[in-house]
Amino acid sequence: MSCSKPQATAPGPARTDGLDFNPASHMTPRAPTRTPRALRNGRRVKDAGIAPQGVYRPSYNVLTPDMRSPQYVQMSTAAAITLGVMPGKMYRCSCTRCLNLLLTYPEGCRANCAYCGLARHREAERDYADRNFIRVDWPAVPTEQVIETVARAGDATPFHRMCISMITHPRSDADTVSVLRAWTARISPETVPVSILSNPTTMSRDDVVRLRDLGADIFTVALDACTPELFDRTRGKGVQSPHRWRTYWERLDDARDVFGAERFGAHLIIGMGETEHEALGVVQRLRDMGGHSHMFCFFPEKGSLMDHLPATPRDQWRRVQLARYLIDYRDVRIEHMRFDEAGRVVDFGLPPAELDAVIEDGVAFRTSGCPGKIREDVSACDRPYGDSPPSDIASFPFAPGKRDLRRVRRQLDLPVVSS
Ligand code: SF4
Repeated sequence: MSCSKPQATAPGPARTDGLDFNPASHMTPRAPTRTPRALRNGRRVKDAGIAPQGVYRPSYNVLTPDMRSPQYVQMSTAAAITLGVMPGKMYRCSCTRCLNLLLTYPEGCRANCAYCGLARHREAERDYADRNFIRVDWPAVPTEQVIETVARAGDATPFHRMCISMITHPRSDADTVSVLRAWTARISPETVPVSILSNPTTMSRDDVVRLRDLGADIFTVALDACTPELFDRTRGKGVQSPHRWRTYWERLDDARDVFGAERFGAHLIIGMGETEHEALGVVQRLRDMGGHSHMFCFFPEKGSLMDHLPATPRDQWRRVQLARYLIDYRDVRIEHMRFDEAGRVVDFGLPPAELDAVIEDGVAFRTSGCPGKIREDVSACDRPYGDSPPSDIASFPFAPGKRDLRRVRRQLDLPVVSS
């Protein structure tokens, strides 16, 4: 069995300017280049027309088969190992409790988000199913095989949640419905609840209602950028991508109305140029709506339009990570916190002893996302090493130990408690 450690890709150039945060002025994406016509829209794969044979593991040495949802879905390396379609193990954890199913098409995602490995500007360089995403390969597996494997395991399944991840593609809405229908026909939501990672750009409120009626449990929106300007720069007009800040918030409003409190959330990437105050303003807005924020530390993806930029400094990340947890689960409000002139958190709004107890509990520093079967503030979606190398973990995919927490305290510039 191979030890499938996630690639410890160098997290972009280190900061040399002494700043302990990523300011907007330093975080400009490259402009996308034009793709030659002959390589657009998955033409290479469609022209070759190779029929897929079972599981496809991304390889640059073979022609990529023509795979499409709903017959095929892709999944992270961690999910493929946990499902048993790939050998391997993950450093310090039992892979993942979340089975993320990513819709797949030769045309790929038609959006061009600057930080994303799946973005359209990579068409010439790599076929869609072969693109690295969150730094790992995403094997493609027949949907029927996935469902059969999980259904057969019954209550013994290692998965606490399944998540259908939509992309920007004209078939994405209809195929999400097909995958969800096929799943719920065999697997009870009590055994494995389902989340939808939506694509607001192609969806309407009716789509949100339909997904709830078909048994989805939680609806999430990958807002990713924390301000309208950063959103436009990284996933809108700035990179010839179709997304609009307003549309994303409209779907979040729909999710609040349709799925209800505690049953919706938004992804946010920290360190793309927002201030800590701006990021936590969005966290508070989501909390006031009844939802949660799921946070990712910016960690440049090779091949993306932001792969030349520095990863989020750990001190910035830890401050936002801890403050987000306090807002989401400890009833602290942004108004209780204090910020300096650069928008950095200087006071978390809790008495020192209470803050110490939260830090020692460790959950604040674990991967955030939709809950599983452990407790409401522990995410099923643990995304092992999705936002950092294992040597310098940003989001812990397991309960951090005493040594981990000592390191976290140093990163927060707080006294280290000896024990
Ligand atoms: S819509 Fe999602 S999958 Fe598509 S490029 Fe943007 S972040 Fe990546």
